[in-house]
Amino acid sequence: MKLIMNLAVVLFLVAPISAQEWDPVLTEKWIPVPALVVPGSGTAAPSDALVLFDGSGLGSWESVRGGEAKWLASDGVMTVSAGSGDIRTTQLFGDIQLHLEWRTPAIVEGDGQGRGNSGVFFHEVYEVQILDSFNNVTYSNGQAGSIYKQHIPLVNASKGPGQWQTYDIVFQSPAFTEDGEVVRNAIVTVFHNGIVIQNHVELTGHTPYIGLPKYEPHGKGAIKLQDHGNPTSFRNIWIREL
Ligand code: MG
Repeated sequence: MKLIMNLAVVLFLVAPISAQEWDPVLTEKWIPVPALVVPGSGTAAPSDALVLFDGSGLGSWESVRGGEAKWLASDGVMTVSAGSGDIRTTQLFGDIQLHLEWRTPAIVEGDGQGRGNSGVFFHEVYEVQILDSFNNVTYSNGQAGSIYKQHIPLVNASKGPGQWQTYDIVFQSPAFTEDGEVVRNAIVTVFHNGIVIQNHVELTGHTPYIGLPKYEPHGKGAIKLQDHGNPTSFRNIWIREL
């Protein structure tokens, strides 16, 4: 019996193994070669990014009401000019990586949704909420980093009022058939101050204040920043198309 077992082991070890199964080259892919990108230092734009705001003016933005963006821009910072309306990029985008830095007012006024409220909208209709959520209670799916009224952030990574905060967002656009049917929902990942707070979440449509989300077919779209009446500020905004 032992002899038979030994024989079986020997047969297994010397069994012919095709070269194909053990050739590592067969699973190597050499093309395409990823393009070389030079990273920025810290949060600076990498070499292939489009800079949307570097402090030198609002040239990449326009008012959603038409005409020039009327927000205040000085000292490398742009700030919501209450009542002037939302602003949006003049350029349109599909799937993107976006970096932006924002700051809610150092002097706290109001509470809940009224405290440092703004927002970054993809295609002008899908909002990642901007809010002073530092010791500020509101509905969880409306706090900073929420996909407004759809997804509560995994954690609250907020810094205090008056401090600069970062969002790094990967947004995959929804896709539609020619008849306007949704074939792929929008998907969003958000890092807030370097911490993942939305992990590849799927949107069920736009993000309205009142009512339920729904999709309206669209192609590429602008990035919109919200005038919610609070003097929230922005700096260092750059984008990479994916
Ligand atoms: Mg908002």
